[in-house]
Amino acid sequence: MLSLPIYMDHHATTPVDPRVVAAMLPFFTDTFGNPSSRQHTFGWAARDAVAAARRQVADLIGADPREIHFTSGATESDNLAVRGVATAEPRRQLHVVTMTTEHHAVLDPCRRLEREGVEVGYVKPRRDGICNVADIERALRPGTRLVSVMTANNEIGVLQPIAEIAALTRPRGVLLHTDAAQAVGKVPIDVGALGVDLLSLTAHKMCGPKGIGALYVRRCRPRLAIAPLFDGGGHEQGLRSGTLNVPGIVGLGAAAAICRDELAPEARRVGALRNRLLDGLRARLDGVTVNGSPEARLPHNLNVSFDGLEGESLLVGLDDVAVSSGAACTSVNPEPSHVLRAIGVPDQLARASLRFGLGRTTTEAEVDYVIEKVSSLVTRLRELSPAAGAR
Ligand SMILES: *Cc1c(COP(=O)(O)O)cnc(C)c1O
Repeated sequence: MLSLPIYMDHHATTPVDPRVVAAMLPFFTDTFGNPSSRQHTFGWAARDAVAAARRQVADLIGADPREIHFTSGATESDNLAVRGVATAEPRRQLHVVTMTTEHHAVLDPCRRLEREGVEVGYVKPRRDGICNVADIERALRPGTRLVSVMTANNEIGVLQPIAEIAALTRPRGVLLHTDAAQAVGKVPIDVGALGVDLLSLTAHKMCGPKGIGALYVRRCRPRLAIAPLFDGGGHEQGLRSGTLNVPGIVGLGAAAAICRDELAPEARRVGALRNRLLDGLRARLDGVTVNGSPEARLPHNLNVSFDGLEGESLLVGLDDVAVSSGAACTSVNPEPSHVLRAIGVPDQLARASLRFGLGRTTTEAEVDYVIEKVSSLVTRLRELSPAAGAR
């Protein structure tokens, strides 16, 4: 049975898996202790649960549990990585390299660093959204301390060649951070194989709860220098003070364990549904362009532009399908996304773009409904469009 509205915006957030909710519930009421309470069983039980979750998260990304630091999500992890590394060893002429297509959780801390005198190089992607590794190499300087490039883009789903970038940064002693919020749990991630020093992840993009995430920090000697964002009780090895969000951490751990168990078959299932969606749209419409590389891409992402449309009317017509458009619809004149602009999509086409994010609950019936809904809407809008006569 098809139930409306249909949620196809899993890059924004995901529903919490009922198995995750079940794992979390006891930690609100029965096992409510503070893991920092070292003198009684309430504290010990919470501490053990946190340790188990830390291992579950570490196992999903091939890390050691001691390398996992819990935060409030990927925004905090990104800020901690970028700002923490850049401010840990105040030096003049500090230099950071990132990309123009990063999430604002990386771009905005970089902008703030620039106001404080740090120099930041912004590398542009190719037209398929992927970076030219040679461009990253050209952006490096003797004073470069950190490179931050996301594993998977949240709008167009493209996967960046992180291991190739690590092959440039590692021998030069430059730290490599990756925002893997969209990739973890969806495609295999192994921090060792990627060669990254820091990695951000968040629970609510992988069927876990909101407000909990982690920063992986590679263990090395001497310890990687990172300044915490705030001071306090020195939790999480001094990197993130504040009483641990035990139910959230347990939820993140459970979500990670489920993703690990189900990753390969689920990626195949969702990837086939995504291909069915694209094929269905193309069978009914011409002028459908996929934004971003079709190959190096998350299995659950589809970002397409429709020729011959005024974009604003697209989302209005999709009243029972939750997707995102290629423009911020908060303003009267929507600003096209910085990612679509960076890969050279003209503003008009960016406004006529949709991002589909499939997920664990997505069914074939939902995909078929969305194909019909979107293709009939686009056909109708094209007939109404003032440009229709010219087509
Ligand atoms: C969702 C997302 C974030 C922000 O994560 P929160 O946990 O919501 O703070 C950061 N980066 C990327 C790529 C994302 O998709």
